[in-house]
Amino acid sequence: MSVHNPATGAVVGTVADESAETVAAKVRELRLYQPEWEAIGPDGRKEWLLKLQDWIIDNTEHLADVLQSETGKPRVDALIDPTFSTDLIGYYARRAGKFLADDHPAPHSPLARVKKLTTVYRPYPVVGVITPWNFPLAMPVLDVIPALAAGAAVILKPSEVTPLSALELARGWAEIGAPPVFTVATGAGATGAAVVDNADYIQFTGSTATGRRIAAACVERMVPYSLELGGKDPAIVLADADIERAAHGITFGGMFNSGQLCISVERVYVEAPVYDEFVAALTENVKALRQGIDDRTPKHDIGAMATEAQVNIVQRHIDEAVAAGARVLTGGKRTGVGTLFEPTVLVDVDHSMSCVTEETFGPTLPVIKVADEAEAIRLANDSSYGLSASVWTGDKERGERIARRLDAGAVNINDVFANLFSFALPMGGWGNSGVGARWGGADGVRKYCRVQAITKPILPTQTKELTWYPYQMPKLLVALGAMRAAAARGMRRIDIPALMRLRGGDK
Ligand code: ADP
Repeated sequence: MSVHNPATGAVVGTVADESAETVAAKVRELRLYQPEWEAIGPDGRKEWLLKLQDWIIDNTEHLADVLQSETGKPRVDALIDPTFSTDLIGYYARRAGKFLADDHPAPHSPLARVKKLTTVYRPYPVVGVITPWNFPLAMPVLDVIPALAAGAAVILKPSEVTPLSALELARGWAEIGAPPVFTVATGAGATGAAVVDNADYIQFTGSTATGRRIAAACVERMVPYSLELGGKDPAIVLADADIERAAHGITFGGMFNSGQLCISVERVYVEAPVYDEFVAALTENVKALRQGIDDRTPKHDIGAMATEAQVNIVQRHIDEAVAAGARVLTGGKRTGVGTLFEPTVLVDVDHSMSCVTEETFGPTLPVIKVADEAEAIRLANDSSYGLSASVWTGDKERGERIARRLDAGAVNINDVFANLFSFALPMGGWGNSGVGARWGGADGVRKYCRVQAITKPILPTQTKELTWYPYQMPKLLVALGAMRAAAARGMRRIDIPALMRLRGGDK
């Protein structure tokens, strides 16, 4: 399969279209090495993960070159993936030991105090990670690293549009001499489906349609999964907001990576008193963006879109909106170079238009005037998606109050993407935006583990427990009475006459 630079159309690499048999063989191989990887423990694994972190730091320029070649991103954006990866690796490499330590939960009842209770976190042997094309290095790292830190082996299926960065990651893993518990399978949907057919846990990021297919396949195999899918993130701008900041933040939130980001701002609701001022500031900011193709010297803010198919979706959303009465204040069409699409602001849009109801995944910002906070919340929640949202206000308490009424997995107040830089928080979508979450501190590695409960006697054991065969009613009544007393608000619920009736018969 050839890989193209979408900005120039040039072929920048070729990769294998790996068959289901190849994927199965790779997973079998991972299974051979995984037990040793689990056995070296979090501290042993930390050493390898930090070596990989060093490798990424040492190879940042090269990684950015490869990433830029397969995405047509601006140089600054291409540098983000390696840096973000470094941050994530540091967090999970260092914290996994604490996060995976056995728990000894307090017994739920005084009767359970006779046992020592332990929860053990043991990894799924092989985790399959399937990623999209928007962040070809960071997306894999975000999920592969926590899985490796948990002690799982990982097979990664990167997008067929941008597989080269993922192959670099695998090269780095091999170059540092790490155990062969991480491998990449290249190919398209069929290769991804083969990963789903062979791994013990699936972490998927991509479209809702594919996510649904993957979930169905996982259920068939009784394999757990976590899905991070599409989004249609709303931004709410209230009349008391710092309008300049809101306009700058929403420009970045809507246009970063040409809007090809699941948590991109895709709808903007502005309170009527500041609507004109906000739209003017937003349009000015968007017009000022520098768009073009970078080499190694950062010159532009916005680059190419990843595929022709993506450009066509953006154009369709704009054309349908305009046909239904919307106005384009800036942008609205291709630049004429590669897949570059002009950053676009749309007004006079409403909830009957595809640009407001469907995920665009492109550089468009549809803006809607609302009467008040209540209407903004109602419209923001009027979506099948629920990934993230932002609220812009001069009153942070009000912002938090509104956040708690939004149906979204994350809400940033007076900011965009902030939750993405907090690995201590979970990142997950509601509704059609997904199932499960990545990160969230300890949850980020524990999700890749099977939990095991172990009980161990604290007191010397008898030949027989009170409740074992043959049943002896007097002893059982003592046990039942004790359970009732412990569970049900004390002695008054023992009710000796009622207990005695449980003996039945004429006794
Ligand atoms: P997009 O192309 O819009 O990113 P997709 O959901 O189609 O969204 O692709 C995301 C990832 O899922 C890619 O790596 C793709 O190859 C993979 N994929 C596509 N179809 C399937 C499938 N049926 N099973 C597993 N993976 C798939």
